Amino acid sequence: MKLPSDVIKKTGPKPGPAVAVFAGVHGNERAGQLALEALAETLSPIAGTVFLVKANPPAIERNVRLVNANLNRLFSRRATPPPTYEGARATELMDLLDRCDALLDLHSYPETAAPDAAEPFAICEPDCRPLVAGFDVGTVVGGFAAFEDGGSDGYMHGNGKIGVCVELGAIERTEKFVDLGIDTARRFLSHFGCLPPAPPLLPRPQRHLRLTAFHKKTAPDFRLARPFRNLEPICAGEEIAAENGRRLVAERDGFIIFPNDTRPVGVEAFLLAAEAT
Ligand SMILES: [Zn+2]
Repeated sequence: MKLPSDVIKKTGPKPGPAVAVFAGVHGNERAGQLALEALAETLSPIAGTVFLVKANPPAIERNVRLVNANLNRLFSRRATPPPTYEGARATELMDLLDRCDALLDLHSYPETAAPDAAEPFAICEPDCRPLVAGFDVGTVVGGFAAFEDGGSDGYMHGNGKIGVCVELGAIERTEKFVDLGIDTARRFLSHFGCLPPAPPLLPRPQRHLRLTAFHKKTAPDFRLARPFRNLEPICAGEEIAAENGRRLVAERDGFIIFPNDTRPVGVEAFLLAAEAT
């Protein structure tokens, strides 16, 4: 099979799994892209096949989140892909993922108010816990698959495979998180035997959260009640936002994820998560 554009294939001398590392699904999230470029120069697998994928090259070139559509909502065979660049790209990347056993997808998120406080975290379902236990991230959030179709990690999970997204801290602090991107990718590849075992991390807690709400903006007047930080604790009864003349209040204690009131109607404005049991 011909490789899609902007995909580098590296094959080890020994047989092994096929795995993919994505960066730039959202073109303005640079840390993962720089990590991928470093890996493209230095990586030499000892086994298996590694695909290094610049996921959305036109968006990367323009340093924008997307060209026509959010690529990370299009990894699904259930819906007809939109007749846009991202629709076509999602189809060719799903064809590539169908040849892979596992995916690591590197992202970053906006943290305009407090970029220095931004905390990297992983997004995956519980079947990935043994893998992400070896990543240097303090928080793991699961349960996305129940709320939203079309994420790259959810696509892998839906096919009974391993899919992990790692959010490499703030878009506004790209340089700070490139090394974490490289380290995370190397640990991912070690887990699957494509690289020798990674050096162990110092013991540290890793907390597990589970998504409890996925709020999409329904009106242009949606406003967050205050500038929340990503993963900031939220108390039951606390006002999160106002929309359409209504107050949106947290039903239980938890954490807010990806708070953003600048995105268009129909797009997620915040997510809520609670400690996983
Ligand atoms: Zn992203």
